[in-house]
Amino acid sequence: MIVGEQKPIEEISKMIAEYKTVLVMGCNTCIAVCHAGGEKEVGILASALRIKNKVEGREQNIEEASMERQCEREFVDELADKIKEADCVLSLACGVGPQTIVEFYPDTIVLPGINTTFYGMPKEQGFFVEFCGGCGNCVLDMTAGICPIVRCSKSMLNGPCGGSQEGRCEVNKDIDCGWQLIHDRLKAQGKLDFMDEILPPKDWSPARHGGPRKMVREDLKIDEKPEDEIEGITKEGEK
Ligand code: SF4
Ligand code: SF4
Repeated sequence: MIVGEQKPIEEISKMIAEYKTVLVMGCNTCIAVCHAGGEKEVGILASALRIKNKVEGREQNIEEASMERQCEREFVDELADKIKEADCVLSLACGVGPQTIVEFYPDTIVLPGINTTFYGMPKEQGFFVEFCGGCGNCVLDMTAGICPIVRCSKSMLNGPCGGSQEGRCEVNKDIDCGWQLIHDRLKAQGKLDFMDEILPPKDWSPARHGGPRKMVREDLKIDEKPEDEIEGITKEGEK
């Protein structure tokens, strides 16, 4: 899941100050699981903004809406009327949500209410950990299912840096040493010889350093639209 947290209300309030009608728009998938931008949080934030406006004597119409997934046009289009009526949309989705609205409703002002943080999982209630950096070339098969890119603080690919003490990372004693975890799991699996493998320099070309990435699945395409037509901004209402 994508993990994020709500921006401070002062920052949000300042961001939306110049708009008369603000649509606070949530997403009921990942960002709802981390209790930052689902329907419930939309309601709480909208109420807090209304109270703040009243206390500070500001006239502003705060609307609310949420959808299943703000990163998919089909769901966004279901709220097309509300989006068009608002002077701005305050998105409580991860960073993909606001940009999906911008893509299909280019005339709409869209502002971020969330700081998107990482790909991870809820380890326990209220505790989320990063597990993947979306590097585009997964090496979990060589590392016993523990990601060296994000779970080693230095993204070491060929074993530990040497600073680990009692299983903890030298960068921060509260962090497990990713390579200690990898070592322990390889040992339990009888695959410690993997530690002797010298991995070649990682091919980072599938990672994001070369600009925005795309993925085309020919088997999933339902028409022969040229790629540039799919990629270009499609105007409101066009399919
Ligand atoms: S190696 Fe890359 S794709 Fe695999 S878990 Fe780590 S960051 Fe994610
Ligand atoms: S102590 Fe372990 S997790 Fe920390 S940087 Fe070194 S190898 Fe990576």
